[in-house]
Amino acid sequence: MGIPFLDLKDQYVELKEELDNAYDRVMKSGWFIMGRELEAFEREFADYCEARYCIGVGNGLDALHLILRAYGISAGEEVIVPANTYIATWLAISYAGAKPVPVEPDERTYNINPLLIEAAVTKKTKAIIPVHLYGQPADMDPILKIADKYKLKVIEDAAQAHGAKYRGKRVGSIGDAAGFSFYPAKNLGAFGDGGAVVTDDKELAGKIRVMRNYGSKVKYYNEVKGFNSRLDELQAAFLRVKLSMLDGWNTRRSKIARQYLSELKDVSKLILPFVPAWAEPVWHLFVIRHPKRDMLRKRLKKKGIDTLIHYPVPPHLSEAYSADSRFGKMKLPVTESIASDVLSLPMSPYMDNEAVHLIKQALSGIGL
Ligand SMILES: *Cc1c(COP(=O)(O)O)cnc(C)c1O
Repeated sequence: MGIPFLDLKDQYVELKEELDNAYDRVMKSGWFIMGRELEAFEREFADYCEARYCIGVGNGLDALHLILRAYGISAGEEVIVPANTYIATWLAISYAGAKPVPVEPDERTYNINPLLIEAAVTKKTKAIIPVHLYGQPADMDPILKIADKYKLKVIEDAAQAHGAKYRGKRVGSIGDAAGFSFYPAKNLGAFGDGGAVVTDDKELAGKIRVMRNYGSKVKYYNEVKGFNSRLDELQAAFLRVKLSMLDGWNTRRSKIARQYLSELKDVSKLILPFVPAWAEPVWHLFVIRHPKRDMLRKRLKKKGIDTLIHYPVPPHLSEAYSADSRFGKMKLPVTESIASDVLSLPMSPYMDNEAVHLIKQALSGIGL
């Protein structure tokens, strides 16, 4: 018997009846884009995030891209971004025509190191995009302070952190705006692609509503050259069902994480996740570090335990960016060392305690 990294069929089995009802409702309505399900989901998700507005869009990358565009960020301008993140955060900036300016992470949390941000600010800087990586909130207070000093927008990349809290506040409601992804494997995932912008900024919300829908408020009257990036009715209806489960799922993830932390604390050479006192993470991923990561991964695989690497190549060294020597020649040693030794262990709300225990035994007996 193996342990999968994550099996999305579990949620379907548990929620089949509600999901089937949602499907029936949308099919029988005969209305598939920009309708009642989307409106209801937007209200429910804004409430969940303790924010005023939610605008459903096509995916998480579009959410970040549309925020940058709506704030007028464009060519010749700079946006501060974590060096250690999924490439989508960088791509959103590149899509807008601006330049990503990477900042190294804190060695313990893997999130952007606030102490290094100010040195990266120039006259061209317009925004900072902290990422709540692996479901762990970034240290927002010092980031907000720097943003205030230099009049920068703070755009949260909350794609991995639905429901996480920073000093008691939900992520997504802390900066000027936030991008969420509902990619199926996220803590709140659709059955396909989906995303959302969350904000208290009324003007921004209005602009993004227009931009996601070809630049029109009234059909066939186009105010700006917009995009087609909409969260469809079926996905919105499914997400409404799953949103009601999110807190329970996140609690379950926390329990699994706590068990991992206690069972693995004495396994030699492992570095376990660190949780600052102000953080309530939602454990999108449980990421350990080990000096012989690739060997460890192979041996776990042999024992039937699936793991993944988030992420093997940091954005500045990916082919997409490294061809540009401004990025290819950058030295970001903390990020590069994280990429060389991180490993994500199985994590899902449907995992049982026995699985964690088996993983602990496997790790203890691996002899690396
Ligand atoms: C998943 C993810 C995104 C992009 O979301 P998509 O819906 O796949 O476009 C952006 N940032 C981070 C940190 C992510 O994990």
